[in-house]
Amino acid sequence: MLRALTVQFIQRRGYSEPLVRVRFAPSPTGDLHLGGLRTALYNYLFSRQHNGHFLLRIEDTDQTRLQPGAMERLRNNLIWAGIIPDEDPVRGGPTGPYIQSKRLEIYQEYVKKLIENDSAYPCFCTEHRLDLLRREAVKARLVPKYDNRCRHLEKDVVKEKLSKGVEHCIRFKLSTEPQGFKDLVYGDFEPTQQEADFVIIKADGYPTYHFANVVDDHLMEISHVLRGVEWLVSTPKHLEIYQAFGWTPPNFAHLPLILNTDGSKLSKRQGDIKVDFYREQGIFPLALINYITHAGGGFDRDSSISCYSYEQLIKQFDINKINTHSSKLNRDTLMELNKLEIVNLLSDNNNTKILVEKVRRLVLETFPDRNNLKTCLKKFSTTNHLEFPKLMKLLRGHLSGLEQGPSVVEMMEILGKDKTLNRLNKHCG
Ligand code: GLU
Repeated sequence: MLRALTVQFIQRRGYSEPLVRVRFAPSPTGDLHLGGLRTALYNYLFSRQHNGHFLLRIEDTDQTRLQPGAMERLRNNLIWAGIIPDEDPVRGGPTGPYIQSKRLEIYQEYVKKLIENDSAYPCFCTEHRLDLLRREAVKARLVPKYDNRCRHLEKDVVKEKLSKGVEHCIRFKLSTEPQGFKDLVYGDFEPTQQEADFVIIKADGYPTYHFANVVDDHLMEISHVLRGVEWLVSTPKHLEIYQAFGWTPPNFAHLPLILNTDGSKLSKRQGDIKVDFYREQGIFPLALINYITHAGGGFDRDSSISCYSYEQLIKQFDINKINTHSSKLNRDTLMELNKLEIVNLLSDNNNTKILVEKVRRLVLETFPDRNNLKTCLKKFSTTNHLEFPKLMKLLRGHLSGLEQGPSVVEMMEILGKDKTLNRLNKHCG
């Protein structure tokens, strides 16, 4: 059905090239962090550049690692950042559902096809046996891997076990000659090690990431997969699944790691890589978006810092300019970008109201002695018959001594909290 839809869509919009459809496919096992935000952003920019569609798909097949509310928070953070999906679990779309746990019947239907064409088989090995295999390998200093035993079970034996309801998973038969492929960022990639047959449907009936990802990317007509480099080594496996179904795979572009300023790996355990951390600090969405375009390439960037609009970023983004080496983020850049964004926002009257409200919240939340400050600001606005936005404008003037002074946030940055507080108290006293 979708093929027909797509053709209509292409015809209606007069495109001659195939429709670009990309996706961001997070697992709701934690909050959105800078690495995920960059993956989402690059997919989004790529889709907008080609008049394509950007999908949000929730990959929740590992039910043991789910975090309540994570999906809603992920989506909310994307929208806050201005990355609006065309198809997602809430908006829906022609290729939904967009949550993998709601697609279990689809995976069951497709795994049957692989069993029928002899590309997959049930595996009855117990956890105990797999554990023994692992231990033996470690003892022999080998990389632990499954010995493909159930691949060679007689058909009758399989039938009998299945009829008795013996617990099993489904494994995919890997070929002995793994395929290489051409990545749009990393170029020719050749797998180095021969892996064992891997699980595609777990004993609990849920698919594994590798299987669900391929089935969904095909059914959702994904044309380009832009994702973190940690998945580069898995792509040859995915390509074998595409081949077993007789499907044309999408194009792949893997994105390099983002590192901390000190060169260490960004870890989800560190609070300051979460998008929420920046939101709470009053960083503006476009400042954060521009910040992450400084890690990983995809843009012409020199030492000058500018806070570009989405329209500009869409024009600038070039998939051929993505780096293969990991990049560090520098926090000073973020502060500079945030200042630029504040100046941008202040130059537009419509934004000033929103901005002033934000500044007010920031001031109240940031000053240690917030009760006093609140009382003092309220007193000041009542005695002067001023509305809060007007008050903030006035304060800016008072604090800086200039008619168009810097915002209170900027004042705090320049003078430090204590001095700003003193000045505020003096003016409000
Ligand atoms: N669910 C995977 C992740 O969170 C998605 C990887 C992919 O984009 O294929 O990393």
